[in-house]
Amino acid sequence: MKIALKEAIIAFKKNEVPIGAVITYKNIIIAKTHNLTETMNNSIAHAEILAISSATKYLGVKYIRKCTMYVTLEPCIMCAGALFWSKIGKIVCGASAIDNNKSFLYNGIKLHPKTIYISGIMKNQCISIIKNFFLFKRIKKL
Ligand SMILES: [Zn+2]
Repeated sequence: MKIALKEAIIAFKKNEVPIGAVITYKNIIIAKTHNLTETMNNSIAHAEILAISSATKYLGVKYIRKCTMYVTLEPCIMCAGALFWSKIGKIVCGASAIDNNKSFLYNGIKLHPKTIYISGIMKNQCISIIKNFFLFKRIKKL
């Protein structure tokens, strides 16, 4: 999660919504990414989507059943769907979604039945970076 948080900090510095994701396979990091929607001018370039793509490419497989994703913020509905289709083994999440509309849990989106989901790891650090980012954005607008 510390590395996912570092990725979120990189995103923050790029003026991207600071969300970072890391995927491990047999305790080795095979993907580390952050949100790149602004940089790529692509509304679906979320950290999780980029990490899944990177991991499947690295392993040369369609499903990443034996992988774990560490992500700083609860995945959105789109990413939860992508994680479902990836059949990822485990998701370790930092903070819960700030906005219920963006929460996959709140909206009743299901992960793959075999995916283990854990939340609240380094919760305070993970939520702080997001809150600071939006505070910073608001201050800039004043
Ligand atoms: Zn997402």
